[in-house]
Amino acid sequence: LADNAMYKVKKSGRNNYQFVTPSLQKEADERLTVQHGLHQALERQEFELFYQPQINFSTQKISGVEALIRWNNPDRGLVTPDEFIAISEETGLIVPIGTWVLEQACRQISDWNKLSTPPTPYLSVNMSIRQFQQKNFISEMERILLKYNIKPQQLELELTESLLIHNLTETQNKLFTLKDMGVRLAIDDFGTGYSSLQYLKSLPLDVLKIDQSFIQDIGIDHNNEAIVQTIISLANNLDLWVVAEGVVTQRQYDFLKLKGCGSYQGYYYSKPIKEHELLEVIKKQSLYF
Ligand code: C2E
Ligand code: MG
Ligand code: MG
Ligand code: MG
Repeated sequence: LADNAMYKVKKSGRNNYQFVTPSLQKEADERLTVQHGLHQALERQEFELFYQPQINFSTQKISGVEALIRWNNPDRGLVTPDEFIAISEETGLIVPIGTWVLEQACRQISDWNKLSTPPTPYLSVNMSIRQFQQKNFISEMERILLKYNIKPQQLELELTESLLIHNLTETQNKLFTLKDMGVRLAIDDFGTGYSSLQYLKSLPLDVLKIDQSFIQDIGIDHNNEAIVQTIISLANNLDLWVVAEGVVTQRQYDFLKLKGCGSYQGYYYSKPIKEHELLEVIKKQSLYF
């Protein structure tokens, strides 16, 4: 029996080896396909921004909107960013994609401003490290704001904690320049990265977005509830606006409201929706700010 067992291990070991190689090859092929597809997507304008409203707890109105990219792939349909942002970062394609996102967001704001009763929420855009680190990032930002003739206060940039701690001095300079221009600055997915209290006090931030993993555990895990409560107090005491991400249930909503959270975003109010749908939501609820 012992001999027999050893044989099986060896055999399955060899099979595994043979199995892994073609699968790695397949993965590499798939990456090339995605890479090629992303190049084409930029040329053929297959990207689209979806919009998710953020609701202010005290006014019950839309105070902000997050822009979230989607890829209308001719073969695969609507592709979400988890499937292509990482590879775009690695290949550098995130730079032209990110510029496209910024332009679209500013175009959207300028369209709002043309309405007879312009809605006043700010529009929030996710930044990738690679895009932010471009030497010409600030001048690109200025160019785009000027091109669409919008107030920088209407635009918010979402930065991750890993982006903040990378090249801290250079990052700090860029953030102060952006702040001087009037752009709002938010930390995305707060609590999942380094969450250093040092940068909270040394960087010109406006908003903390509590990561949805903590929100999910409200009513389930007391430790995570305590963390959420602590982040809210911390933000309030530092004069930072605090947004809860991924709010789905009434229970989460009630908890956050009770603890003094600023606004929330999540399926409880709305999924990310198309441009015209967002305008409908804004009109229907006469949330004309
Ligand atoms: P994020 O910035 O943290 O965005 C929040 C994500 O949570 C979005 O996923 C959103 O659709 C999802 N979400 C919102 N409410 C709920 C909810 O109630 N429940 C659940 N389960 N999920 C909810 P999405 O759109 O797939 O985006 C994923 C990530 O991709 C974003 O996370 C962001 O890091 C990145 N991303 C999205 N758009 C862009 C972009 O234009 N540029 C860059 N660089 N990254 C982007
Ligand atoms: Mg975000
Ligand atoms: Mg987030
Ligand atoms: Mg995230």
